[in-house]
Amino acid sequence: MLLGMSGPLATDDVSPEPEAPVEPPCVEITDSRDADVGGMLVRRALPRRARRTVGAWCFVDHMASAPAEGPGIGPHPHIGLHTVTWLLSGELVHRDSLGSEQPIRPGQLNVMTAGNGIAHAEETAVRGALHHGVQLWVAQPEATRWGAPDFAHHAELPRVELATGTASVLVGALDGAVSPARADTPLVGAEVDLRGPGASTLPLDPAFEHAVVVLDGAVALDGRDLTPGHLGYLGLGRDELTVSATAATRLLLIGGTPFEAVPLMWWNYVARSWDEVRQAHEDWQAESDRFGVVPSTLARIPSLPPVARGR
Ligand code: MN
Repeated sequence: MLLGMSGPLATDDVSPEPEAPVEPPCVEITDSRDADVGGMLVRRALPRRARRTVGAWCFVDHMASAPAEGPGIGPHPHIGLHTVTWLLSGELVHRDSLGSEQPIRPGQLNVMTAGNGIAHAEETAVRGALHHGVQLWVAQPEATRWGAPDFAHHAELPRVELATGTASVLVGALDGAVSPARADTPLVGAEVDLRGPGASTLPLDPAFEHAVVVLDGAVALDGRDLTPGHLGYLGLGRDELTVSATAATRLLLIGGTPFEAVPLMWWNYVARSWDEVRQAHEDWQAESDRFGVVPSTLARIPSLPPVARGR
C-alpha cells in the first residue's frame, strides 16, 4: 500500500500537551515513527508526542521506498485539513466525493481540502512500481475548517535555482517564487533537490517556525547531520538556512506561523474536541451525505472508533 493516506494515528501521538514553538532558532532532531498503513511501512515524522505541529503542518508521512503491490487505499473520510500529496516516483489516481478523478505523477501536487467533510480514495496506477513520496496534512484554521471541501491538482510548480540544486515550491513562497496551491494560513512547503556536494542557502521568513525531513541522502544543518527517518525542527526566527550535502540529497522543508490551536487528531479527522471526532465517526459509519460517495472500486474503510479519553 501507499503513503500515509489514512492514518490511523496512534494514541502515542495524541497525548499530553506539546511543547511551544522554540525561539531562538534551534536544531531539535526527533525520530520518525514507523507506521503500518495498509501493510506498507511509512516513516511518520509528524505528529510526535512533543511536537504536534510546525506552522499548520500537522502530519508528515514519508513513504518508505518499496514497490507498491496493493491496489491502494479505499474510500475514507477527512475533516478539518488539507492533504498535500507529492511523489518522487510512482503514480497514483486520486478519486473523491466531489467527483474528482486525477492521476498524480512526480513533480505534480494534489491539494485536497476537507473543510466540513470529504471522502477520497488513492489508487495505485502501476502495481509493483517504486512509490516514493510524501503525504502531508495541514490543519485548517477556525475561519475555514467548517467550510466547503475542494480539490486542486497543480501540474506545474515554480522552481528556485540554488547554488547546488533546485527547490520546487509546493505551498507558499520561497525566494519570491509563489506556489498556486491554496493555503489558509501563512505556510511554506518546498522540496529541495541538491545535486551533489556543497552548500545552498534558502531565504526564510523569520515569523515562521520551520522543519526539515530528508527524503533521500543526508544533510548538515548548523553542523548537525540529518538523515531519512527523522524530523529536524528549526524553531522560529531564522531568516535563512544553509543546507550542506556531501552527495545528491532530496529534502522537504516545511514552515509556517505557529498554529492558532493544538489540533486534536484522531484517525483521519483533524478537530478540536472529542465531540467533533465522535460526530465525524458516526456520520461516516452512517454513510451520511456529509462525506458523500467516492466512485472507487476499492472497499470503503470503516472509521476507527474514538477511544474514551475524557474531555
Ligand atoms: Mn486520506
